[in-house]
Amino acid sequence: MSKTPDILIVGAGPAGTSAALYAARNGRSTLVLDKGFTHSAMGKMERVIDYPGVGDKPSGEALIKRMRWQAKDAGADFRDVEVSGTAFGTSARMIMGQDRKGEQKFQGKTIILASGGGIAMAGSLLPGETELRGKGVSYSVERDSYLYRKAPVAVFGKTMGACEAALALARNAERVEFIIPSNRLDVPESMKEKIKAAGVIHLLFSASLKAIEGSEHVTAAVVVSGGQEKALPIRAIFLYQIDHQVSANFLDGALERGDHGNILVDEHLTTSAPGVFACGDLLTGIPQIPVIAVAQGVMAALSADRYLQEAEGRR
Ligand SMILES: Cc1cc2nc3c(=O)[nH]c(=O)nc-3n(C[C@H](O)[C@H](O)[C@H](O)COP(=O)(O)OP(=O)(O)OC[C@H]3O[C@@H](n4cnc5c(N)ncnc54)[C@H](O)[C@@H]3O)c2cc1C
Repeated sequence: MSKTPDILIVGAGPAGTSAALYAARNGRSTLVLDKGFTHSAMGKMERVIDYPGVGDKPSGEALIKRMRWQAKDAGADFRDVEVSGTAFGTSARMIMGQDRKGEQKFQGKTIILASGGGIAMAGSLLPGETELRGKGVSYSVERDSYLYRKAPVAVFGKTMGACEAALALARNAERVEFIIPSNRLDVPESMKEKIKAAGVIHLLFSASLKAIEGSEHVTAAVVVSGGQEKALPIRAIFLYQIDHQVSANFLDGALERGDHGNILVDEHLTTSAPGVFACGDLLTGIPQIPVIAVAQGVMAALSADRYLQEAEGRR
């Protein structure tokens, strides 16, 4: 590989490894920097159950290893580096980071940022929340509601998103416990009417969620409502009282961001700095689905390739 790779990628989760695969397949010298694959949100998933074409339900770790292997096989290089800073000039684009030998500088003709996001309960993590992720604790009704048809479930939150989640669950769930950390819902009357009309949504106002219980799977949500603590028997809880988080402290004001710290991009996934692209959970600050991150990684690689072709006078 030449000293300055055509495409320098930060993050080896599903978005970054897919970008690396397509970048390398296009004959571009490609270097991926990552602080360690186990940090990938997908690497922590116990089972990946809804990835098209992968029906054997591999662990997230196994699937991300396969993705990395495939990108390496196509010619991409990977290095263990924790990125700590950037300098995006008009021609030179630089990434600073730390590896086992200390501070290093990396240049890329183009950069793809794919360092993902995280999730944090507004406030702090609940007892049971981390242990039961993927075992009934979910942050996405779109992704996981089908697993809990005809089961008692709960939603925690007070936003329009939480109301929409409760309504969506009500279509198939046996009962929806709607745990609301407020004495009212500040949403349009029409939404309140839909919630009432759904028939299976049980509203618990001024309620606090104390813990999520279960060992192999969620069995109950411990709530305090009306001064009384009770354990609501449920199979799943959907948490909508969360803070957005992106893994992008290293950017330090270098790029335009959205309200949640998410990186703003155009339809080609170009950021506010020319030649710098972004993909995956970094674009939202809330968990998406690995297959969406993968698709965005591919799009970012194709956009970076197009940018290089223009710079080379081939387009
Ligand atoms: C808590 C949580 C639970 C989830 N549960 C599910 C689920 O049950 N089912 C499901 O389908 N999806 C789930 N998701 C969503 C799914 O995992 C993500 O949408 C997907 O992994 C996003 O891919 P990504 O490549 O954008 O980011 P990630 O997978 O997060 O990858 C980002 C990579 O960037 C690296 N990185 C970050 N910062 C730096 C840095 N400074 N220097 C170097 N490297 C860095 C990390 O090490 C990591 O490898 C969950 C996500 C979260 C956060």
